[in-house]
Amino acid sequence: MNDNMQEWVDILNRWSKSYYTLDEPEVSDKEYDELYDKLRALEQETGVVLPDSPTQRVGGEILDHFEKHHHLAPLYSLDKAQSYEQLEEWVRRNERLLENAKDSLKEPLPDLEYVVEYKFDGLTINLTYEDGYLKTAATRGNGKIGEEILEQIRRIPSVPLKIPSKNKMEIQGEGLMPLSKLEEYNKTAKEPLKNARNAAAGALRNLDPNVVKERSLTAYFYNIGYIEGKEFATDMEMKEFLRENQFLVHPSITKVKSVKEAEKEIERIGKLRGDLDILIDGVVIKINDMKIREVLGFTNKFPRWAIAYKFEAEETSTILEDVVWNVGRTGKLTPTAILSPVEIGGVTIRRATLNNYDDIERKEVEIGARVLIRRSNDVIPEIMGVLPSEEKTKEIKKPDRCPACGAKIIQDGVHIFCPNTLSCQPQLVARLTHFASRDAMNIEGFSEKTILKLLQEKDLREIPDIYQLTFDDFRSMEGFKDKRSQNMIDAIEASKNPNLSNFIYALGIHNVGAKTAEDLAHYYKTFEAFVNSSYEELINIGDIGPVTGEEIRKFFDDPEIQESLKHLKELGVFPKEEIIEEKGSQLANKTIVLTGALTVSRKEMEELLKSYGAKITGSVSKNTDIVLVGEKPGSKKDKAEELGIDILNENEIRKLISKEE
Ligand code: NAD
Repeated sequence: MNDNMQEWVDILNRWSKSYYTLDEPEVSDKEYDELYDKLRALEQETGVVLPDSPTQRVGGEILDHFEKHHHLAPLYSLDKAQSYEQLEEWVRRNERLLENAKDSLKEPLPDLEYVVEYKFDGLTINLTYEDGYLKTAATRGNGKIGEEILEQIRRIPSVPLKIPSKNKMEIQGEGLMPLSKLEEYNKTAKEPLKNARNAAAGALRNLDPNVVKERSLTAYFYNIGYIEGKEFATDMEMKEFLRENQFLVHPSITKVKSVKEAEKEIERIGKLRGDLDILIDGVVIKINDMKIREVLGFTNKFPRWAIAYKFEAEETSTILEDVVWNVGRTGKLTPTAILSPVEIGGVTIRRATLNNYDDIERKEVEIGARVLIRRSNDVIPEIMGVLPSEEKTKEIKKPDRCPACGAKIIQDGVHIFCPNTLSCQPQLVARLTHFASRDAMNIEGFSEKTILKLLQEKDLREIPDIYQLTFDDFRSMEGFKDKRSQNMIDAIEASKNPNLSNFIYALGIHNVGAKTAEDLAHYYKTFEAFVNSSYEELINIGDIGPVTGEEIRKFFDDPEIQESLKHLKELGVFPKEEIIEEKGSQLANKTIVLTGALTVSRKEMEELLKSYGAKITGSVSKNTDIVLVGEKPGSKKDKAEELGIDILNENEIRKLISKEE
């Protein structure tokens, strides 16, 4: 015997007990499966199998506090394949066995056909019906004896308590917690559930049956393990019978004629796996014909006529090394978990999200703890919870000061913020980038890279500093020659008097996006009026709600912001008055279509016209008032002529505008 064998068996048995009996896994399935596979390979290599090896048994121990249920027919586990090669090997093995059995059969067997269905990742349930009534229900337990959980099963609304068939039978399915219900539950739960599998198993094996109801469990059925007075020729026929008797049978089940077709199904299901509302961890492929199944039979652990194709795991566990807090543009501090590197689905994970401090507390996450992490659908990995372990752990402190600038943190609901919006460095980089962006102050060339350089080399700290940068500041930085430096200075100068809406957007007030900024500009027309706005007034504008209203007021009431705005004004940075829809504006409410090349960019002209109250549309119709034509106009000009719509060139439009000023 290999030195490792007994040790591995002991570890796997301990993990199985935690998983099956206590519903409190110590490791992820991925880690369990990896060691299980190593043990199985070692057993095959040495020919030695220890009597307590998990490869010889179904499930785990059962809990004494449940009544015991003796299944009418044993329940099995499933053989598994993790590659198409292994799947094809399973097919060849079966074909060989059938070939060998051929001579002893009275009748020839039909061609092989397979049923492909989801491998549900919940808790196996076994329901006994007699005279059309649900008599008892049990867990799989060790395959022969399960735990009686009738009252729990009764709390699953989709399980029929009465069915048309009077035959005595036992049917098997999987109890599941829909993922949408899990998400909803975890939003407010004191103790969030780590995953849907544990959630379902934990509820069904809870002595309080109402937990099943609280977690809104459902169940899908796939097998009749025992039935008196009835026989099925195929699996599909059996599934039809289940449907007729009001059991939920998943509609995704398909029948295929070859392993290649089964592989196509696996691909298809693999792609939609992330969109399903139930957890599946693979696909089960079963031989459809019951006579063939009889010939193939069972090993002591699983049927030879079925195999589970397991998908790449989405969960694993690792040690949480540290938590760092990052400051975003709005000042929100988000915790990022630094992990001991671990691989999921071929990707090495080093960081995971923890959402907020409330999340850390509810999940009882501590530094040094073994955490369960999940990565599905290529989204950022998330920490689902803590696994029990002996590791020494340390509490994660909620920062009371911003890690970047030292400002005192403020709490807003479950989130924490650094209130120092105008001079906290990471906020500043993000905010300066936002401030200079096209829809804001539109400072050409003022990219994130340049901003970073200016921060590092020229101590650019606050927004007003932008307007104090000199030609020499740029010229002395690497990559800036005369022309580029002058361009930067010109671009900064040109940005000083933006439209009001662009300026409002540039300020980066929480929740105030480009559209809200436009609504505010149209309403207030001048910046002073906006600064002096009241909360009551704000919440009646456009789609501004109470949260945004509050944010705006908070922003202008902040003395640091006031100081910064004052400074900007002294530097000549101040938005233009919004001249729109005023009496006499000849462009107010006019629908204008642009065609051909203009002396300025299309966007610039559109903004200009909009600032005089015009509406810009893309195509000419009878509702168009003016078509502005530039060089080489397109068919829009022809259409305008056809419809008798006013056609103006750029000069004419500019004259109209200058009359307004
Ligand atoms: P299994 O879960 O891999 O497969 C067998 C089970 O699949 C059946 O009993 C049945 O309940 C279920 N199933 C779902 N959909 C089905 C369908 N359409 N048709 C037929 N059956 C379907 O095997 P298992 O023996 O129940 O459990 C072993 C697995 O449990 C391991 O691979 C591991 O992932 C997990 N486990 C984890 C730990 C841990 O500590 N994390 C410990 C023990 C076991």
